[in-house]
Amino acid sequence: MTANAERAASMEKIVALCKRRGFVFPGSDIYGGLANTWDYGPLGIELKNNIKQLWWKTFVHRRRDIVGLDAGILMHPRVWEASGHVVNFNDPLVDCKTCKARFRADHLIEERLGKEAAGLTPDQMSEIIRTENPACPKCGNRTLTDARQFNMMFKTTIGPVSETGVDVYLRPETAQAMFVQFKNIMATARVKLPFGVAQIGKSFRNEITPGNFIFRDIEFEQMEIEYFVRPERAAEAFDAWLDAMKAWVGALGLQDAHVRVREHEQAELSHYSDRTLDFEYFFPGPMGWKELYGLANRTDFDLRQHQEFSGEDLSWFDQESGTRFLPYVIEPTFGVDRTILVVLLDAYDEEATVDVNGKADTRIVLRFDPKVAPYKAAILPLMKKPELTEIAKGIYDRIQTETDLLVDYDETGNIGKRYRRQDEIGTPFCFTVDPDSLDDGSVTVRDRDTTEQDRIAIDDVVSWLSSRVR
Ligand code: ATP
Repeated sequence: MTANAERAASMEKIVALCKRRGFVFPGSDIYGGLANTWDYGPLGIELKNNIKQLWWKTFVHRRRDIVGLDAGILMHPRVWEASGHVVNFNDPLVDCKTCKARFRADHLIEERLGKEAAGLTPDQMSEIIRTENPACPKCGNRTLTDARQFNMMFKTTIGPVSETGVDVYLRPETAQAMFVQFKNIMATARVKLPFGVAQIGKSFRNEITPGNFIFRDIEFEQMEIEYFVRPERAAEAFDAWLDAMKAWVGALGLQDAHVRVREHEQAELSHYSDRTLDFEYFFPGPMGWKELYGLANRTDFDLRQHQEFSGEDLSWFDQESGTRFLPYVIEPTFGVDRTILVVLLDAYDEEATVDVNGKADTRIVLRFDPKVAPYKAAILPLMKKPELTEIAKGIYDRIQTETDLLVDYDETGNIGKRYRRQDEIGTPFCFTVDPDSLDDGSVTVRDRDTTEQDRIAIDDVVSWLSSRVR
């Protein structure tokens, strides 16, 4: 495992880089911000889209057993009664009587008292808080209340006036729509067991202790699959999904030492789960190991609940045996924002160099896998002279029309600074058009990771780049 002390990345550096280069901005920034909301800027949206498209390609297009869904954020309120969210989707909270700050009781116990809190009831947590009497993390007074349950779903109202309107929730997970539409998908998609339904979309949680940048937001995106299997095949499907998730982590280019898989203990399991694994990532600084993704065996809990609450038959008819049963569900779930955060943290590197004047300098480089890099290359005329910019723009146009690879074009500033800017936003290659290009029909290609330079023919740029990025 890479010790944190040896890591170039820190959360502070990533937050600063994200704002400086346009990956992620604080939400509502000019109004002083709205706590724990974040907006993806011009480069952030490209990184995000690349990750979502790679996921969709990997798990939907390249497989014949998974179909897609894009459901609404608002659903019938009964959905959340059936799913158990109205009753169970709670965080245990404590208040500080002095400064009125509010904290997650389990986090407080783990972080301030160094005790395991997973699976404890609010009463058990209150008991620990009373006995150990920890100081308020904000004001330092030992005036914390008992732990109380707080529902994390955001509520809103459909209808012109709140008195006669219908209270609905913003979905706290994308999963439920896949169960609610199970019957329609069965009837239309010509699927047979085992098969999965995949969805990417926004979810909302009124997290009381959000933070750590985009690790825990109140509005975030999830990429989820509900994989329906015969009950007797659930364990086997679970193992296959564990392998598929490991392969995904590998495809993102995350360092092995920074990812581990942790099995939930019995007491820690959610109300619907028979078995859960967390993929954990080793975050720098005080965060350490924290959940990145989850894999759960949800049994037939959700289909059974929705069958009961909706009155619709959601069973599967097995042609071979002539029997009906409720399939089990294996759920691999991936947070988009957490993926972006770990891809940034993992890619961040600093290299000691010297600048043009021989002074000590630091090269900041995001070593993104080319698949997820916002720009696959930058096209740079060495000088802003028409004969050079014309060739450079021609290369840019060819790449944009002949491929789906996004490239940058930059003609201002000295070339060293332009290379550094591309290093810092993770562009794997730079093509530089110089006066020699006019004679030999070639450009210089510079590699982000090694900074080595080579010459290649202008006519080969498109195929060369395509082969490097695939
Ligand atoms: P945590 O224990 O960190 O609150 P969770 O176990 O509640 O997470 P799940 O309900 O399993 O999370 O959600 C599935 C995935 O969605 C998580 O693995 C994570 O990647 C992402 N996710 C969950 N909550 C948030 C959030 N508040 N902000 C950003 N991503 C989130």
